[in-house]
Amino acid sequence: MEMEHSGVQKNRVVIVGGGIGGAFVACSLQFCADVVLVDQKEYFEIPWGSLRSMVDPSFAERLAINHSDYLPNARIVASSATDITENDVVTEDGQSLPYDYLVIATGHVNSVPRTRAERLSQYQAVSEEIKSANTILIVGGGPTGVELAGEIVYDFPEKKVVLVHRGPRLLEFIGFKASQKALAWLTSKKVEVILDQSIDMGNISDGVVQTSAGETIKVDCHFDCTGKPMGSSWLRGTVLEDSLDINGRLMVDENLRVRGHKNVFGIGDITDIKEIKQGYLAQRHAQTTVTNLKLLLTGGKESCMVTYKTSINMAIISLGRKDGLAQLPFLTICGWLPGLIKSGDLFVGKTRKQLGLNF
Ligand SMILES: Cc1cc2nc3c(=O)[nH]c(=O)nc-3n(C[C@H](O)[C@H](O)[C@H](O)COP(=O)(O)OP(=O)(O)OC[C@H]3O[C@@H](n4cnc5c(N)ncnc54)[C@H](O)[C@@H]3O)c2cc1C
Repeated sequence: MEMEHSGVQKNRVVIVGGGIGGAFVACSLQFCADVVLVDQKEYFEIPWGSLRSMVDPSFAERLAINHSDYLPNARIVASSATDITENDVVTEDGQSLPYDYLVIATGHVNSVPRTRAERLSQYQAVSEEIKSANTILIVGGGPTGVELAGEIVYDFPEKKVVLVHRGPRLLEFIGFKASQKALAWLTSKKVEVILDQSIDMGNISDGVVQTSAGETIKVDCHFDCTGKPMGSSWLRGTVLEDSLDINGRLMVDENLRVRGHKNVFGIGDITDIKEIKQGYLAQRHAQTTVTNLKLLLTGGKESCMVTYKTSINMAIISLGRKDGLAQLPFLTICGWLPGLIKSGDLFVGKTRKQLGLNF
């Protein structure tokens, strides 16, 4: 604990990972504790707006938000965490950050630039590449690949888009009906969808690309939308190593504390919670963790902590700027109605407001 000038002891909360889960915890706790956010980059980015930013780089201006803009009362360490001991988080730039409570939210590995300015220039360059291409290859038919194809064909209907997916259906993380509807929508927009075939990403260059079935495609540019690895490999060799399951997920209990560690919480995509990995769920994890931490920080009993209830699998996939596809508990719909909910602003204004920023 750290002594304030007033003599009141303030607990130190270190949060590792400044994505959806970590940013929301840091934002909510910054006035209740001595908060340190450790993130590889200097800014937070709203992931669900990133695909639109690839075709329309002006959209990225509201997506990429310097951590300091929504964390006026927290310390930001823009470096990778490399180790955790019982008392400290160690960072790549050589800092040792003591904690009373720790939150791990390192999601998935995503190599993006360190500064907001570099990220905005990256979007600019990608959009130029898309603009000047005639044929665009997208590898991976999960939500990222499907949404990217939707964005490209909406803004550039004249371009040829080929989507190659290794599995038998698109959007395998949700139901069969959703896959069929996504396929029908993409096909209606003249996207060529190739299922059950893969592309060797280690051996790809623009020009002529060969699929696993020997089919050749002439492409001007390509995007890798295959899944990203878990952001947990850095936890190997730390005090949390034994709390990782065989898939590298962090095992958490019903209060979202990392198993075997009373003062460490795990949230978001990195956890072993049996749900689809979605940002709105990482936000729910963050809310539960904030409630429990506020209780512990004010001397409340552990037995009074709230438990996390898993959610039914729901998802809304945007299909360009107007249409969408929603899998709801009893209904899967495609078209303007889900589009009305998500596809216009992609919840960017809503997410900014949640962080206390203007629309
Ligand atoms: C293109 C795209 C579109 C999506 N669309 C939607 C959608 O529409 N709706 C939805 O609900 N979900 C969506 N998702 C999923 C959603 O973004 C994730 O579920 C969510 O971001 C998970 O949050 P997280 O906090 O667990 O991890 P992340 O948001 O992945 O954040 C992890 C953070 O940890 C940092 N980090 C990693 N390792 C370290 C380290 N060692 N030290 C310091 N920092 C580290 C990273 O820099 C990153 O900031 C989308 C994802 C993508 C990629």
